[in-house]
Amino acid sequence: MFPRILKSVNAMNALVVFQNVTLIDGTGCEPLPEATVAVRDGKIVYAGKAKRWQPSLQEDILNLELGGKYLLPGLIDCHVHLSGSGEPDSRFKTDDGSMTLKILNNARRNLAAGITTLRDLGGWNELEFAVRGSIQRGEFTGPRLVLAGRFISISESGADHYEGMYRIADGVEQVRKAAREQIKHGADLVKLGVTGAVLVEDGVPGATHFNSDEISVAVEEAAKFGRRVAAHAHGIDGIRKAVLAGVHSIEHGTYLYQGKDVIEEMVRRGTFLVPTLKTGHDLGKGNTSKVPAWIVEKMRETQEAAKKSVRLAYQAGVPIAMGSDAATPLNYHGENGLEVYCMQQAGMKPMDALVSSTLTAAKALNLDSRIGSIEEGKLADILILDADPLEDLKRLADKKLIRAVFLEGKLVARQPADSYPRTILARDCLTVGQ
Ligand SMILES: [Zn+2]
Repeated sequence: MFPRILKSVNAMNALVVFQNVTLIDGTGCEPLPEATVAVRDGKIVYAGKAKRWQPSLQEDILNLELGGKYLLPGLIDCHVHLSGSGEPDSRFKTDDGSMTLKILNNARRNLAAGITTLRDLGGWNELEFAVRGSIQRGEFTGPRLVLAGRFISISESGADHYEGMYRIADGVEQVRKAAREQIKHGADLVKLGVTGAVLVEDGVPGATHFNSDEISVAVEEAAKFGRRVAAHAHGIDGIRKAVLAGVHSIEHGTYLYQGKDVIEEMVRRGTFLVPTLKTGHDLGKGNTSKVPAWIVEKMRETQEAAKKSVRLAYQAGVPIAMGSDAATPLNYHGENGLEVYCMQQAGMKPMDALVSSTLTAAKALNLDSRIGSIEEGKLADILILDADPLEDLKRLADKKLIRAVFLEGKLVARQPADSYPRTILARDCLTVGQ
């Protein structure tokens, strides 16, 4: 029976104590065996050596004995599209009702795989805002969602393929209006398509789309509302323009290796790189017979460049945040943890690759005061694994090894045979890997 419940109480607001865990706190510190983590009202009140932990005697306590399992922060994925499910050809047509359910289902699939916070960088007809509202009101259990709304783009053919995702804007004043509009509708950040795309048939990833003044005005408008700007950018000219205009993250960054000056500027400014290597990884291993040939070809063309860019950026000290781009062909929600493995394959140390999905990702989202590590005062977003992820990062996405997922102290996903007290269960607790 898992977990072993040493002391149980019925009080809803009892202190929950995770005992005998190997703590990987998400900051990059060495794992701490035989640790204790205590949670009260959804927040971490203690994380450290068991022998230093001193509970108050008056308090109701629920003690969970975890038998040495690995406890780490819930993972954060800084780049997904909840509107896509890894269909072989991501150019699909659908109606709003079906799409709303699809977005909710994909969000929950991520949560059931230990991804407690997701940033969506291009939704569908802004339906994701309604899904976020429904989760926030407690109508459905779901992950914390950080949403960009529509992908702001120049006039180009991508909008014909991804009708619900794009917001066309040409020239400074249209970009200004588009950024304001997205924020008014509920966007937590602004997403700009600064260069061409891989998944647009006639798109040239290296080609620059927005001019410097258009990018700058998006940054200016976002700043008024305390929002950040994420720039989709493959080609080095577009990456350079975006970095110099002050965007906060470069998404993909495929040809970043071509600009040593740009890498240095990113280090100086603290601009995040979100590499999205999993897109190419999945096409490399999966059955691509149903994927349009032009997609396979373009992915293969860009993959080695993307890895080289990650390696050089990492060596130079660019902050790298995890983003799987889950939605692209054969890149399924719930397997996002594999992106961390891909980052290791590109040259990052296992611990640094993991931190890219915990504290560094939280910093990229400007949420590091609340999430991203297991430290006193932070929200209790917790992932429990049966085996050490640092020995094999693919374990982060192994549904047999993910034991439980907690969001703000509530159990939101568990293995079906495990039994937890009712007081800590979320309203509709999911099954791991569902
Ligand atoms: Zn994307």
